[in-house]
Amino acid sequence: MKAFSYRRAASAEEAVAMAASQPGSRFIAGGTNLLDLMKLQIETPAHLVDINRIDLDRVEPGRNGGLRIGALVRNSDLAADRRVREQYPLLSRALLSGASGQLRNKATTAGNLLQRARCPYFYDTTQACNKRQPGSGCAAIGGASRSHAIQGTSDHCIAVHPSDMAVAMRALDASVETLAPGGVRRIIPIADFHLLPGSTPQRENALAAGELITSVTLPAPIGGTQVYRKVRDRASYAFAMVSVAAVMVRDGPRVSRARLAFGGIGTVPWRVEAAERALQDGAGAEAAADEALAGSRTTPDNQFKQVLIRRTLAATLAQTLPGATS
Ligand code: SF4
Repeated sequence: MKAFSYRRAASAEEAVAMAASQPGSRFIAGGTNLLDLMKLQIETPAHLVDINRIDLDRVEPGRNGGLRIGALVRNSDLAADRRVREQYPLLSRALLSGASGQLRNKATTAGNLLQRARCPYFYDTTQACNKRQPGSGCAAIGGASRSHAIQGTSDHCIAVHPSDMAVAMRALDASVETLAPGGVRRIIPIADFHLLPGSTPQRENALAAGELITSVTLPAPIGGTQVYRKVRDRASYAFAMVSVAAVMVRDGPRVSRARLAFGGIGTVPWRVEAAERALQDGAGAEAAADEALAGSRTTPDNQFKQVLIRRTLAATLAQTLPGATS
């Protein structure tokens, strides 16, 4: 591991000031992803600013009946929060489907949003990877790509976004609140937070250098039946091959409001509003899946995801029917 300096911040303002005063700084909280990357020298920060002591570890009432989740709320605590379980069960279920109990106890809300790609070539420093080393190529294109994305890809990167939590937050229309150097505060809709790889896959989110996530806010609960269904290679501690986050608000047999976001298929958490409209117009799972797969690009290794997404969506929507058990 490359040598680095370490400082502990007592407030968000102090953390941002520390990072701004030392080029090459990174914030560290749970460290469940960053420390692995530092050991492999994929991330080589010169300075770490520890933000664990900052007062950002509470879930509080937000604006307009919503919820404000501090950046440092641990994934386990967020999943167990009574308001989240009762009013945003989609989020609780997505969190509990991710990682392992030990990791969820350590990992934070902000860190979960910022976790980096799990592409094996990204972690193998002998391989070409545009995300790790811009301009070096992409070993996954033409390589082993079973777990890779089929939506939002580019000729430069096909890595899938790894987070379950972010998929649920995308369906719930969350926003990310930040503090930047100079005291500038921003609210970034989660739809704009994660960036498609395009020709710059090394840029994964909308944060500027030294900008700190302070909280994530959820709008007022949408209600309805909420299901997070995840298909993976083993029953726990595995990333999604495909996942579906669904919120169905029904008026009798009719779907009056639908939310659909997908994990395991996109380079970013993949919300498909055209599929939501199809369901609201009375179409079934097949038509919604057609919308979810519109424009998808597969490799020979991952074309099975096109079939898997249809089956997973059909099973998810069946779960949201009145009388169905989940
Ligand atoms: Fe790197 Fe992305 Fe290609 Fe994986 S898919 S090797 S992360 S450029």
